[in-house]
Amino acid sequence: MLKQRTLTIETVGKIGETVTLFGWVHGRRNMGKLVFFDLRDASGLLQIVGVPAELIDDAARTALDSLRPEFVVSVTGVVQARGAKQQKPDEPTGMVELLAKNVAVLNESKTPPFEIDNEERQAGEELRLKYRYLDLRHERMARNMRLRDRVVTFFRDYMHAHGFVEIETPILMKGTPEGSREYIVPSRLHAGDFYVLPQSPQQFKQLLMVAGFEKYFQIARCFRDEDQRGDRQPEFTQLDFEMSFVEAEDIYAYTEAMMIELVRSVAPEKKITQIPFPRMTYAEAMEKYGNDKPDIRVDKNDPNELGFAWVVDFPMFEMDEEGRIAAKHHPFCAVHPDDEKLLDTEPMKVRANAYDLVMNGFELSSGSIRIHRRDQQKKIFDILKISAEEQELRFGHMLEAFEFGAPPHGGFAPGIDRLVMLLAGEPNIREVIAFPKTGDARDPMMNAPSTVSQRALDEAHIAIKK
Ligand code: ASP
Repeated sequence: MLKQRTLTIETVGKIGETVTLFGWVHGRRNMGKLVFFDLRDASGLLQIVGVPAELIDDAARTALDSLRPEFVVSVTGVVQARGAKQQKPDEPTGMVELLAKNVAVLNESKTPPFEIDNEERQAGEELRLKYRYLDLRHERMARNMRLRDRVVTFFRDYMHAHGFVEIETPILMKGTPEGSREYIVPSRLHAGDFYVLPQSPQQFKQLLMVAGFEKYFQIARCFRDEDQRGDRQPEFTQLDFEMSFVEAEDIYAYTEAMMIELVRSVAPEKKITQIPFPRMTYAEAMEKYGNDKPDIRVDKNDPNELGFAWVVDFPMFEMDEEGRIAAKHHPFCAVHPDDEKLLDTEPMKVRANAYDLVMNGFELSSGSIRIHRRDQQKKIFDILKISAEEQELRFGHMLEAFEFGAPPHGGFAPGIDRLVMLLAGEPNIREVIAFPKTGDARDPMMNAPSTVSQRALDEAHIAIKK
């Protein structure tokens, strides 16, 4: 056991007491015989004053002398009030300091590739990602991770308080047609067969409605092997949820109340442009804003303004890059009740019962009321020109499940990364993901993706094309 430990933040109420702190040397200044440095631990920083004559022995004096940035140390000393000139009332421990009596080095550190006690983003992103464990020592990054934790915790608590059940769904699955390329995983036991990683738990959450849970949620990791245009990650996190016996209005009401409460509880300094959130149809958004993620903020330069808005009635279908008819959101969306008659004649005019929540010009969440009847689902697959065999092969389980008392249901999936990015005021989602990938989907720290041994390839029945 280490000596009774005090956190830097706890020293505030301990003037006159002798305490032992553990942490990292966060910058160091020599002032004649005096040594000043900040000790950093998970709770923050504390100024340490090292006066050689105050130290208990030569070992402590040698240790003090040897300190360099990022050394791991323990320091025992007396908490004292700072002299008038040293006081920093704005900082959590700015009125106190520790007069060191004993110093021990627990581990040394090489000179870091960038300064940790400098909040400027002085290093390039490649270097920051290669040494992410050092980059995360920056106060701003640590603050982002803690904000993310508060957001996720808020959602978990809120969902549970409203009767939702958290259920994990498989990572190894069969493809789901949400329009993105999927990551594939070879099966060792079934030569030539592959799992794919989920683009989202869409099918499973619908099947959980068939199973009768009525309210499901999951903090779900999703995987999409897309070209990394813009601010995307090959894996990202959604608050995925689904409800039975609801209409779109129920999803709007639930989500809107939750988002307002989230802002109030984790980011009270922010203000929401308009409550209730304004609502417009996809057609209106395209006409008025020229895109489907309108930025409705009054002052786009105000970092504390959050402009939530609903965009509803998305088209059911679109033409893909190869000129083929495709589902705009995914093929499980219910058709807008007024447009069912158009399905056979003018499918491109059909609206889905699908909606997005946008904020500050970003798509925050997509969702829809779903199809829950076999005949209707088949009809959509037919329009998408998916052959009967292909329907059975890829979606037979969904079609079959809809024949066993599937309730009406719908859901939503707010993206956690983007939401935290906007709450943190960061320019991209990599700043709020502990270990993100680069723009070209690499991890420069682990150096992934990478080759695997010939044996692993053989076991997976894979031959690499040269
Ligand atoms: N699964 C959908 C998505 O990831 C969200 C939903 O329809 O609930 O975009």
